[in-house]
Amino acid sequence: MRRSFRTEIIFLAAFAVAATAHAHFAVPKQAPETHEAPEGGADGPARRSPLQGEVAASQTNSETNSAPPTQASPSNAGETAGEIAAKCEKDLKAMPFSERTKGIPEICAKAARLDGCRSVNGEPIYHFDRAGDPAAKRSQKILVLSLIHGDELHSGSVALSWLQRLQEIQPRNAWRVIPVVNPDGWRARTRTNANGVDVNRNFPSQDWDDLALKYWKSKAGSAERRFPGKSAGSEPETQCAIAHIEGFKPDFVISIHTPLGVLDFDGPKVAMPKFNPLPWVSLGNFPGSLGRYMWVDRKVPVLTVELKNQKLYAKQFEEFDKLQDISGTVALQSEKALKKDAPPPPAGQSQPTSAGSASVSDDMMN
Ligand SMILES: [Zn+2]
Repeated sequence: MRRSFRTEIIFLAAFAVAATAHAHFAVPKQAPETHEAPEGGADGPARRSPLQGEVAASQTNSETNSAPPTQASPSNAGETAGEIAAKCEKDLKAMPFSERTKGIPEICAKAARLDGCRSVNGEPIYHFDRAGDPAAKRSQKILVLSLIHGDELHSGSVALSWLQRLQEIQPRNAWRVIPVVNPDGWRARTRTNANGVDVNRNFPSQDWDDLALKYWKSKAGSAERRFPGKSAGSEPETQCAIAHIEGFKPDFVISIHTPLGVLDFDGPKVAMPKFNPLPWVSLGNFPGSLGRYMWVDRKVPVLTVELKNQKLYAKQFEEFDKLQDISGTVALQSEKALKKDAPPPPAGQSQPTSAGSASVSDDMMN
């Protein structure tokens, strides 16, 4: 188990790559092969997922299991599909640049919600499924999360744009998108959830009990906006994300943030496709972060997209649309690398994508 603060060091410097990126979104030409159908159809009837059970199963420390259940709402029996769709429309239309996206009502008609997926304030945390091409070789299951930090507004714009693309194409990979992981933070425009917890520090990584609070005090200066919570996985938003991880079993995770302006990859060594708007820079990961929980603990690669400001994003819509294809390519390359390298590299071994280093500073934490 990894105890050292590798994340104190970040690797900066642009990553120059000769690799050419060819997005493979279209139906590939390979012969059909046996393919395990992705879970959930495009209409995404919510897979039943006993949330507490899932969380308990995923935690390795018995102390963290003793945390009281935090089911957000007693009315988990749920709202009607129409009510979820209405919330969804309201959210998606409020996103920056939502006018780019045609057919938000049609998208939202397909919103689904797992049992228990509600915020502290009882708001539904809905998701979308798009099945992959059953004939495609090595189709990957890709989970996309945005607005895990509620004040990173245009992270949701990218997810929305990708949702629209998924309506229009037959993707090779199976996609699940959760556009608003932290609805209370999104409504209040705060990084944290309604309990004042940074959801991206609340994932029950194996080192959480040892390091999360310690790290928060010593490295994050006890900044309120980075509070990891009182116990690992204490927050309903975290539990919802975990339920998706346990139920959907993604091969690859994409987490969209702002405003650091980089692509950060926690995964095996692969040739990173060139992406003009943002350099590949390894930021490392933190106790309780998704990167540590998924890659360090579970060997599921995590691509963190850190957008810059809205103005710059607005000049590069098409590029960011293509990033969805690039991400699919990285997912496929990662699968290949992980297979080839089996057993996977030692826990915590992230791939330096660059030379040079600098101390981590508060504003370089995603
Ligand atoms: Zn963020």
